[in-house]
Amino acid sequence: MSETIAGEAVAGAVEERFRQLYGAGPQGVWAAPGRVNLIGEHTDYNDGCVMPFALPHTAVAAVSRRDDGVLRLHSADVAAPVVEVTLDSLTPGTDKNWTAYPAGVVWALREAGHAVTGADIHLASTVPAGAGLSSSAALEVVVALALDDLYELGLRGWQLARLCQRAENVYVGAPVGIMDQTASACCESGHALFLDTRDLSQRQIPFDLAAEGMRLLVVDTRVKHSHSEGEYGKRRVGCEQGAALLGVDALRDIPYADLDAALERLGDEEEVRRLVRHVVTEDARVDRVVALLESGDTRAIGPVLTAGHASLRDDFRVSCPELDLVVDTAVTAGALGARMTGGGFGGSAIVLAEEADVDALTKAVEEAFATAGFTTPRVFEAVPSAGARRVA
Ligand code: ADP
Ligand code: MG
Repeated sequence: MSETIAGEAVAGAVEERFRQLYGAGPQGVWAAPGRVNLIGEHTDYNDGCVMPFALPHTAVAAVSRRDDGVLRLHSADVAAPVVEVTLDSLTPGTDKNWTAYPAGVVWALREAGHAVTGADIHLASTVPAGAGLSSSAALEVVVALALDDLYELGLRGWQLARLCQRAENVYVGAPVGIMDQTASACCESGHALFLDTRDLSQRQIPFDLAAEGMRLLVVDTRVKHSHSEGEYGKRRVGCEQGAALLGVDALRDIPYADLDAALERLGDEEEVRRLVRHVVTEDARVDRVVALLESGDTRAIGPVLTAGHASLRDDFRVSCPELDLVVDTAVTAGALGARMTGGGFGGSAIVLAEEADVDALTKAVEEAFATAGFTTPRVFEAVPSAGARRVA
């Protein structure tokens, strides 16, 4: 069942293809993972906290620098020839193809004053695209790390993440928060990353479910989401309205203890009230999960995850029938907890399960999907893996 494709395993093939495409070997090969978010959804653009961990699935890039102001891009996963652009022509909002992600990173580095003068890039990724597992951040971070190395920029993981977020926000035009890029850049094997998105402070929290007889399953519903489409942006604007109406910089500033009073102040702004309620309770759930993990009470995070799903479904309204079916089926069939992960409107759910229950839960979800007439989901185990790194 598990499909673990780490960067090291495909580095050789990526390097060889680079040589075929560009006529000489690359100066190096880098890998950056996709991620699963354990808890803290839609909090990363409200200055709140999140808790992702890295997947073994990675984007792998073979890269060489160039000094002539030219950028050449190729993906093993897109049936198209090498794309060549000049760095001076890079303009935010103009590229609607996959090349906007790597080109956006080059643009963001140059905009920040780094003297990047060109590159040849060939990449391949084992992170499923559009499945809520952050294939876009993996792509950005692997390119950023490669250029950081080749141009000896000396940037820290969180700085690379900031530049990648800027690439996605401004160059690609998707209003995403900072979580995905930070997870890809900074996660460590065997840990979840507790990240405060206000000051970018972070803490590695040991997260080794196998040692405690548990597993975390990812269920990719195969319903494609798109962040660039309006709904994500609408939630973001709604949260900003909520913060403005409540007189705070960000919804992060509403303590859980003050939630009822805050909701009362919002009066009949029903839509904003629901968004505020999700974000404030979700911040509290992140704190709760961290406390439980740090006290060794790992099984007790299950119901917190499930409560998070209910909040995303009912208050934030970013779930969909397929995600709800995964969660309802898994919990009914004995999972410790389950929730959608990532931005929503499709993508993936996670299921926390006792090791002994994994096969039965997988079967229950697959059968429920078949009965509902949904596309067969892809189920795999998520093992907390390494963040971005050089592999050759
Ligand atoms: P997610 O990050 O959840 O997977 P996004 O919509 O944010 O979904 O990003 C998906 C997009 O990233 C794809 O549509 C494509 O443009 C780009 N992408 C992801 N993986 C690859 C790849 N291997 N090659 C080329 N482009 C990719
Ligand atoms: Mg993405």
